[in-house]
Amino acid sequence: MNYLSTRGHPDRKRFCDILLEGLAPDGGLYLPEQYPKIDTATLAKWRELPYAELAFEILSLYIDDIPPADLKAICAKTYTAEVFGTDEIVPLRELEDGVYLEALSNGPTLAFKDMAMQLLGNLFEYELGRRGAELNILGATSGDTGSAAEYAMRGKKGVRVFMTSPDGRMSPFQQAQMFSLQDENIHNIAITGVFDDCQDIVKAVSNDLGFKRKYRIGTVNSINWARLLAQVVYYFAGYFQATASNDRPVSFTVPSGNFGNVCAGHVARMMGLPIQTLVVATNENDVLDEFFRTGIYRVRAAADTHETSSPSMDISKASNFERFVFDLVGRDAATLRQLFVDDLGTQGRFDLSGNPAFKQAAERFGFKSSRSTHADRLATIRDTEKRFATLVDPHTADGLKAAREHLVPGVPMVVLETALPIKFAETLVEALGEEPARPKKFEGIEALPKRVVKLPADAEAVKAYIAQNCD
Ligand SMILES: *Cc1c(COP(=O)(O)O)cnc(C)c1O
Repeated sequence: MNYLSTRGHPDRKRFCDILLEGLAPDGGLYLPEQYPKIDTATLAKWRELPYAELAFEILSLYIDDIPPADLKAICAKTYTAEVFGTDEIVPLRELEDGVYLEALSNGPTLAFKDMAMQLLGNLFEYELGRRGAELNILGATSGDTGSAAEYAMRGKKGVRVFMTSPDGRMSPFQQAQMFSLQDENIHNIAITGVFDDCQDIVKAVSNDLGFKRKYRIGTVNSINWARLLAQVVYYFAGYFQATASNDRPVSFTVPSGNFGNVCAGHVARMMGLPIQTLVVATNENDVLDEFFRTGIYRVRAAADTHETSSPSMDISKASNFERFVFDLVGRDAATLRQLFVDDLGTQGRFDLSGNPAFKQAAERFGFKSSRSTHADRLATIRDTEKRFATLVDPHTADGLKAAREHLVPGVPMVVLETALPIKFAETLVEALGEEPARPKKFEGIEALPKRVVKLPADAEAVKAYIAQNCD
């Protein structure tokens, strides 16, 4: 399997080459040259497999530069009941007639990003070991991504994590999750500033090419293809749990921000998994809902990006969206460049409303969308508690609301549960007047010793800290 860039660069790469990379050299995103198609016999065989073996079968179709026995061992080591809480790994439960919740948030940090990041940690350790190389991961987080990365990379050979976060601006629970890690290869850096300052620092350090090369700086952001690929697996696992046979369609609703999660659903559908509809659920930051309603993709300015009660979906642009649009325009790199380089570069938007391709988003690729507000979120959390004695987090609540707007009788609707309610206790308290129960392993974590350094919002200070901690 070879990988190409959405922007038409002539080079073709293999999986392990792009594993440790971010963007393609031309600024595009990597995609496989074609999606492997699954026949009915294969699908029937896969239905019977435990999660780790299903993961191995799917990953094998995209990874041909890791020996199968090694890849199998990596999958077996990653997807265990010990790490994810159950043998099913992503258990499905029926909430109401035809509506299901697929639990993706029982990993170490209680959000779905663990599903991919835990695999990435093991793949990085394997590949760096094979090359005798090291990697220093530099990131900026306001919560979920940073902690998922730290829990995936802790104790891994050849990897260090330098994670910046805005000082005092994460919830006490999220802070405690990250700062209580005592592993030597994990460095928490609290920046005196806001999240944008952290992102600016990461950009400034990465733009210093000499420093980047000398200290082997890398990232684990959501455009990483391996993360997306890992997520394809739970669409298959959810499908098998929601159906008794492989001739039945299923729809999925996905609380979305950077379009990484739902893009994995798109890949599963392109492989031939019988997915009828992919519902993109957004919050007040409705860049994606606007596109699927109108054909206009309009990047928001910082001032127009809202801080909401489903903060992991607060985006101004959706960094994985380019992958889907590449397929939508028939994989024509010139058209793609026109949209993402020329139009977005000069006008901050592109308009496909008059283009016949836009109709295909719904008709051929099965996409629909919805938008939720803070009031919707509270109402959904209350209603779900009252009618089903089930607590959902604010992101999953956005999903549930969207799902109900696109139900089709006879077609199971699977809502992806992207976080557990305890991560967003403040909003649960606002909705219900009480704190959600906390899993045992997180009791009292706020009182644990914290490992964190405080630095000013200055890229030079962060560089000096990295240099100091890299021997
Ligand atoms: C990251 C995240 C999302 C958004 O996922 P994307 O892949 O960026 O679309 C939704 N909910 C939660 C809880 C998240 O952490």
